[in-house]
Amino acid sequence: MTIVQTDRPAARTSGIAPRRLVVLGATGSIGRTTADVLAHAPRGAFEVTAVAGGSDPEALAAMAVQLGARFAAIADPKAYGALKAALSSTGIKAAAGPQAVIEAALHPADLVVAAIAGAAGVEPTHAALEQGRTVALANKECLVCAGGPFMRTAARAGARLLPMDSEHNAIFQALGGAAPESVARMILTASGGPFRAWSAERIRAATPAEALAHPNWSMGPKVSVDSASLMNKGLELIEAHHMFGIGAEKLDVLVHPQSIVHGLVTFDDGAVVAGLANPDMRVPIAHCLAFPGRIATRAKPLDLAQIGTLTFEPADFARFPALRVAMDALRAGGAMPTVLNAANEIGVAAFLAGQIGFLDIARIVEEVCEQAMAGGEGREPQSISEALGVDHVARDRARALLARRPLSGMVTK
Ligand code: NDP
Ligand code: MG
Repeated sequence: MTIVQTDRPAARTSGIAPRRLVVLGATGSIGRTTADVLAHAPRGAFEVTAVAGGSDPEALAAMAVQLGARFAAIADPKAYGALKAALSSTGIKAAAGPQAVIEAALHPADLVVAAIAGAAGVEPTHAALEQGRTVALANKECLVCAGGPFMRTAARAGARLLPMDSEHNAIFQALGGAAPESVARMILTASGGPFRAWSAERIRAATPAEALAHPNWSMGPKVSVDSASLMNKGLELIEAHHMFGIGAEKLDVLVHPQSIVHGLVTFDDGAVVAGLANPDMRVPIAHCLAFPGRIATRAKPLDLAQIGTLTFEPADFARFPALRVAMDALRAGGAMPTVLNAANEIGVAAFLAGQIGFLDIARIVEEVCEQAMAGGEGREPQSISEALGVDHVARDRARALLARRPLSGMVTK
């Protein structure tokens, strides 16, 4: 079934088959914003074949109906009954469990939107790439956890990765197909998050509610906390390293509180090309959905005269140690980004559960990275299963640190 809306122009491509989509993480922030873009896209341009979610059967069923999907998969096996009941009169097939999410990822599609949060997205997203599918990647943790295997699989299968993360999307557009060798520098901007102007003492005492209150973006909880610690920017540097084949030494971060310039590429000849847009995920999402074409969105047009001033400042590694730890992992390479990502997911969940203080997240991540280094475990994972093995060990170590708290110098709540 195609998405029905009456007040929209027909696709300029009318007569051409709709682009078939799978949306993984359909009930999340990116999933819902994708639905918004689709609701205002040209009539008949897109058709959603399958959706997947984590553990909210009612929300997933509602999204499956809204998008006109034929198949809905929920990761939590216990949610099967509720999902089936919620879809009972719709003709949409329900399935549950991690294998069902992979089944959704492999549904017939021209584009798979990969928007599951965290390393839970690794296997389904990788499965889609293995089948040669074009993947619009919002889930940065995929490339941080298993960047080498992901990129090798994409090359082997002839699959294309389109960056949906706003910074990478801006850089992708700025690159315009230029060879990585012609790039002198690649800069990702960071808004600085809600604690940009806070003292170290105030950041130390930050609460989950304060960390979730991002000034410019409305996002899921995990990426919001990562944005507050600047770990998000570190994860994004690692993502950029793999996605664009750029060495760590050419990658950098610039704090830009207005979030208008999302990424900049400096070429060897001195030219700098930047990607600008209002901070609205509809812009990169629409770019990926329509690529290489364009579709209109309801994003507010950018009015630079009204904004007046754009400012830039260096990142402060002292107040935001998570960024330093992530950049160390990027430079160390091998298994360190995998370890970093896993420990960070545990740390963020513990912070959101009120178990640890905000700066403890970076402490836990750093300590788990040090343990892996000391254990001689720095070799790069060669496959998805190796990467997930490293991920599991790092999670166990992070949990052990939590169980042992207070750590030396740890701020406990
Ligand atoms: P949310 O937490 O809002 O949504 C996560 C989605 O993943 C939900 O649909 C959730 O289902 C689903 N999910 C969780 N676990 C599983 C699983 N095991 N199998 C299938 N689905 C699962 O996150 P966001 O939308 O904010 O972020 C998604 C990804 O995109 C993250 O990697 C994030 O870093 C990245 N990103 C997000 C941006 C944003 O603006 N939000 C910007 C750039 C990148 P349920 O609802 O049932 O929990
Ligand atoms: Mg981003």
